[in-house]
Amino acid sequence: MSVTRKTEIMIEREQLVLIVRTPMPEILCEECGRDVKMIEMKEASRLARISQREIFSRMGNDSIHFKETPLGSLFICFDSLVNDLRQSG
Ligand SMILES: [Zn+2]
Repeated sequence: MSVTRKTEIMIEREQLVLIVRTPMPEILCEECGRDVKMIEMKEASRLARISQREIFSRMGNDSIHFKETPLGSLFICFDSLVNDLRQSG
C-alpha cells in the first residue's frame, strides 16, 4: 500500500464540491465490505468544514465509517463521508 502517491479527486454533486489533494490509501472498510479510499481525520475535517468532534459524533452513530491504523491514525471512509455530507446538506 502506497501512501505517498498523490491523488486528486473532484466530486461535484449538487452543492457539494470536495477537492482532494492528499494521499488516499485504499483500505478495507468493514461497513462497506470492500476496499475504499480513506482520508485522514484532519483532512476530512478540513475538507468537509466540520470539526473533528462532529466527525467523531457521526462516527458514533455509524453515519461515517472509519478505520484506525496500527499506528493510531484515524482514517475516514471517503464514500461514507461524502454520503453523510450530502444527507446533512
Ligand atoms: Zn465505508
